[in-house]
Amino acid sequence: MSGFAAATTHRGVRNIRLPTTLLSQADGGLGVKTGVNGFGVKNFIGTFTAPFAVVNDFDLLASLPSRHLTSGMAEAVKVALIRDKDFFEWVERNAIPLREHKSTQLHELIRKSASIHLQHIALCGDPFESGCSRPLDFGHWAAHKLESLTSYRVHHGEAVAIGMAIDSQYSAEIGLLSRHELLRALSLIEGLGLRTWHTALERVGVGGRLDILQGLEEFQEHIGGKLTLTLLKGIGQGVETDTVRTQIVIRALGLLKKRHSSRCAST
Ligand SMILES: [Zn+2]
Repeated sequence: MSGFAAATTHRGVRNIRLPTTLLSQADGGLGVKTGVNGFGVKNFIGTFTAPFAVVNDFDLLASLPSRHLTSGMAEAVKVALIRDKDFFEWVERNAIPLREHKSTQLHELIRKSASIHLQHIALCGDPFESGCSRPLDFGHWAAHKLESLTSYRVHHGEAVAIGMAIDSQYSAEIGLLSRHELLRALSLIEGLGLRTWHTALERVGVGGRLDILQGLEEFQEHIGGKLTLTLLKGIGQGVETDTVRTQIVIRALGLLKKRHSSRCAST
């Protein structure tokens, strides 16, 4: 909100950001988007404006509830999955201290995630999300919808974790991602204490259609033009597609539910 105010006052005054959550230090705080909600739509009014500086003060994390620390890690896993296999493997090796919120590992996670974001924004030549910036939206079509279906009781990072599980499972169902890599992705999400399933995914609306599928149309509206989703062709390798087969999304959802039920039964 203050970013939007700064961007529009006198056609833009300098804005320095001090992100206070793990999620914003690792992800959101580094973006070029500002915005406020309007007309019942999240971030409906806003601008693309780069901050003058971003100051990540790790001391601010000390006051965060544990749930926020866990959910914030989802966005770091996101950039690892679509961009950086080495970072993914680092997170795998450090999953236990990260799950326990050990500060050395959490700070390193933020540093690595923030630097990948920064590289992406600075070097892809398109910070304004009309082309190559979109892959940072991996897992987000379902995440946005799950947040609204649960009246935001599911936090953004938690929803992104589930959204990434759906898109990873979908990638495997169409033969893009190997079963082994799918299992690594799902196991890491779960290993950090995040979930890969939520009962709201089963909610059915008019005509017997799953409500979550509405997220695809809403996402298309959000990006404008054609529906483009990021899928995985390997760990650290996101690819875009504009062909989404609803029946396979439904199958992916069913498989994640099955995985969830068998994990519950075994614990
Ligand atoms: Zn996000």
